Amino acid sequence: MLQDKDILELFKKSEALLSGHFELTSGLHSNQYFQCALVLQYPNYCELLAKGLKEKFADFPKPDKVIGPALGGVTLAYELARSVKEVIELIKREGAEVIAVGSVVNRSSQSVDFGVPFRSLIKMEVQTYQPSNCPLCEQGIPVYKPGSKALKK
Ligand SMILES: [Zn+2]
Repeated sequence: MLQDKDILELFKKSEALLSGHFELTSGLHSNQYFQCALVLQYPNYCELLAKGLKEKFADFPKPDKVIGPALGGVTLAYELARSVKEVIELIKREGAEVIAVGSVVNRSSQSVDFGVPFRSLIKMEVQTYQPSNCPLCEQGIPVYKPGSKALKK
């Protein structure tokens, strides 16, 4: 079973735990960001994380399909809360049943309700700020919006 320290080590080795000034999918700002794509570029790390996530759902029946949001989730079913909700709605519209949601990192400070069981490999509390009350914005540090959401526009 993967331990939190093992997962953090994979993120550190792949320089995927970024520090800076980020606009998250939620619209909040943060000084940290988990760039899962940097970990998943290494097939052996991806395999380890996927096996760890699979173990988290060992008590579930074997699913017919495992679906992940683009782009990172195409490699491994992970994403941020809003993207997961969009994917759940998409799956339901197609007439399929969602039995559970899994992610590599859960950086939510509050519990997330997807309407189905949600499990992650590691839970990390990341400091977030409303943009109107962000000390990094006050310092004039340019904000970077990671992820694939910008590709839609
Ligand atoms: Zn900010």
